[in-house]
Amino acid sequence: MISHPDKAYSRNPAVKADAHSTLNAGAQFFCIGDDEKHGSFDEPAWFAGASRRKEDILALLKIARMGHPVLLRPALPVESPGAPEIASLVQDMIETMLDASGAGLAAPQVHHSLRLFVYHVPAARRDDGEEALAPRALINPVISPVGEERMDCVEGCLSLPGLRGVVRRHACVRYEGWNERGEAVSGEARGFHANVLQHENDHLDGILYTMRIDDFRSFGYTDELTRENAT
Ligand SMILES: [Zn+2]
Repeated sequence: MISHPDKAYSRNPAVKADAHSTLNAGAQFFCIGDDEKHGSFDEPAWFAGASRRKEDILALLKIARMGHPVLLRPALPVESPGAPEIASLVQDMIETMLDASGAGLAAPQVHHSLRLFVYHVPAARRDDGEEALAPRALINPVISPVGEERMDCVEGCLSLPGLRGVVRRHACVRYEGWNERGEAVSGEARGFHANVLQHENDHLDGILYTMRIDDFRSFGYTDELTRENAT
């Protein structure tokens, strides 16, 4: 049985999620994809249309996998968040993220050791009461916890294809940074939004989600976990 994606993991701090039942619940993860492909989720109108490059060619970037040193290196600040080359990198990263059915992608994952990431909150993956968010960039981010509340998150990563594990994260965070137009952005995030911000921000410090797993019984190949779930 596969649970509804919205119920795939608990963010209620009162519920200490069982690692295996949480994993087996399935579809709530944000870097690796299930079988979603273009058009199967709420692709924003701007992405499908006007702001695509004129020649309509996808610029897919090579994604570094676990073991590549770029994933362990602290990334450098972006000197000019509004620079045209940064906007171009952001666009390519968003296309790469969506093509790979991910919900987040950090610059070091595509061999740019810079402090920026892209992400979105697809409607199918948002938590109850949480807004879906179109793809966007956060440059030179500062992520800080709000309160003491924690949540258990089932995470995957485009740099560790086919794997997932349970990581304990802050349930609410404040974020600050810039977008690719050089505008300051800030706010508070909860649920999946907070989850993806913390996962992607970790990439900028050379941290993979596996380094934050407390119980490695929660870690494994998605298809094996799904197989166990099916029996
Ligand atoms: Zn990742």
